[in-house]
Amino acid sequence: MNGDLQKSTDYDRLIKVFGVTPLSEEVLNKLPERHKLFEIGYFFAHRDFDKVLEGWERGEEFAILTGRGPSNVMHLGHMLLFDFVAWMQKTFKVPAYIPLSDDEKYVFLKVDSLREAAFYAYDNALDIAALGFDEKKTYFFISTKTPEIYEMSVELSTEVTLNEVKAVFGFTDSDNPGKYFYSVVQSAHILFPTVRKGYRSLVPIAIDQDPYIRLSRDIAERKKLPKPAALHSKYLPGLTGEPMSASKPETAIFLDDPPKVIKEKIWKALTGGQPTVKEQREKGGDPERCVVFKWLEAFVLDPKEAEEWKGRCRRGEVLCGECKKKLYEGIVRILKEHHERKLKLADKADKFFLHPVD
Ligand code: SF4
Repeated sequence: MNGDLQKSTDYDRLIKVFGVTPLSEEVLNKLPERHKLFEIGYFFAHRDFDKVLEGWERGEEFAILTGRGPSNVMHLGHMLLFDFVAWMQKTFKVPAYIPLSDDEKYVFLKVDSLREAAFYAYDNALDIAALGFDEKKTYFFISTKTPEIYEMSVELSTEVTLNEVKAVFGFTDSDNPGKYFYSVVQSAHILFPTVRKGYRSLVPIAIDQDPYIRLSRDIAERKKLPKPAALHSKYLPGLTGEPMSASKPETAIFLDDPPKVIKEKIWKALTGGQPTVKEQREKGGDPERCVVFKWLEAFVLDPKEAEEWKGRCRRGEVLCGECKKKLYEGIVRILKEHHERKLKLADKADKFFLHPVD
């Protein structure tokens, strides 16, 4: 495991660094049912998730919200998160808001033009919608194409100072002003369901994105609004052990990767296996250090099967080639089903976008 991954997976340290609350059994017991990502500890910390659940029990609706920066085709790591958001919507029967931040990708120089970001925004929206969102309760919106977001961002911008933004995000004088303004736009995204409909927002988000939540909570407090809640996720390691990244295609499986490419990537993935079959049979492997296992656990196996698989690995009863084959077949099947659903949605994508009357 490389140093970066090691550092980024020291979750106890991250809980302290970000000042978030560990997700306890007591909170999880308030859920009407547990999604697999709760069972395998993918979500590990939160801000006010307990209050959201308590409010929901009293009949208070909340909005589930998570954004997407559209600079590329989505990969399986993104799909995992949005699949969970669709489950939350179905389980709690709540509205889902999905901001597509073309502005973010442009000011952080991840795309060459807003037009390029808009192209990916529509493609990503179809992929997300295909995960089973309810078209009557799901609202996609693209930052630069939604006048209400600009209006709200301008209003919220007077609630923070430049020094505050610098301190929270570490920007310097050489960063462009778009990045500074985007921090307020992100707060407008997060607080949009609250200002518009009075729902508290619940944001499932990777732990390194917490500064945006913190800023939004500060702004909400100043404006006497319910503070947004957050559920923090771990990072699913990329196939090579590094974080998944569009600039390193070998780290991730993109939703448009053909089976041949998927196979090549999985066959090169990091495992916790021994150098030889003989040693693997004698000493067993280490599933905790194995990306192939983490992916099997996240995408293919249910939690009980994953526990059993872990034991078989440790006892040397399974070889890495077998795991890779299982992962490959599972992912090809998942993506085939996904593409069929996406195709069916192609002519009704517009139904999912925010309209002035929504
Ligand atoms: Fe990972 Fe499977 Fe190899 Fe064990 S046998 S280290 S789970 S790939």
